[in-house]
Amino acid sequence: MKYASISEKGVRPRNEDSCYIPAADETPLVIVADGMGGHAAGDTASAMAVAVIRDAFADAGNCCRDGIAGAVEEANTAIFLRSRREPALAGMGTTLVFALLSPPGVLAANVGDSRIYLFSRGTLRQISEDHSLVAALVAMGEITREEAMVHPRRNIITRALGTKDEERADVFDFPWNKGDTLLLCTDGLHGTLSDGEIAAVLSGENDIERAARKLVSAALDAGSADNVTVVLVRNEG
Ligand code: CA
Repeated sequence: MKYASISEKGVRPRNEDSCYIPAADETPLVIVADGMGGHAAGDTASAMAVAVIRDAFADAGNCCRDGIAGAVEEANTAIFLRSRREPALAGMGTTLVFALLSPPGVLAANVGDSRIYLFSRGTLRQISEDHSLVAALVAMGEITREEAMVHPRRNIITRALGTKDEERADVFDFPWNKGDTLLLCTDGLHGTLSDGEIAAVLSGENDIERAARKLVSAALDAGSADNVTVVLVRNEG
């Protein structure tokens, strides 16, 4: 497995996104979170989500669906209780998307609108479903995916960690093969670049370090006014 990650604050004063890729001796796990809240609250929420999920799977034996539900619940509770305890952090919350990698399968989970995609043999497929107002409108056929990207209420998410006492993730289980690439990203990327534009970058650059850099640069060059975070994982068989 090969990993690359880049997180840029772009034009924003702070970077409220957090991400994680493992060292060689750690559980094969990747995480992306996009925090919200004033001052340092967003940074704190996303960093807490990443830390709780990372620690929950430090022992790779926890890598199952039950382990995922428990870890997400633990992250939600930790953020929620801290937001209650510290007035400066009141109302903080975060999205979360993560994937446990055990070839031939991937076990992934998400809360909110940060995404996981599978890029396989030149085709990009969104695995996670956004918990957002615009995703619901797309699902109902009210607007198109293209309209969702510029919709005035595109930032409204319908699930987040830490904003109430309980929250749950959707869990996805899918195969991946040698040569396939996983992309985890915040809406700073997928709210600016279309799936076609993302796929074109991944098709044109085989080195995942350079591909991650190119994706972030493309989003910032295209005028993303948000933090942009990209994690790539290549299945090397
Ligand atoms: Ca964002």
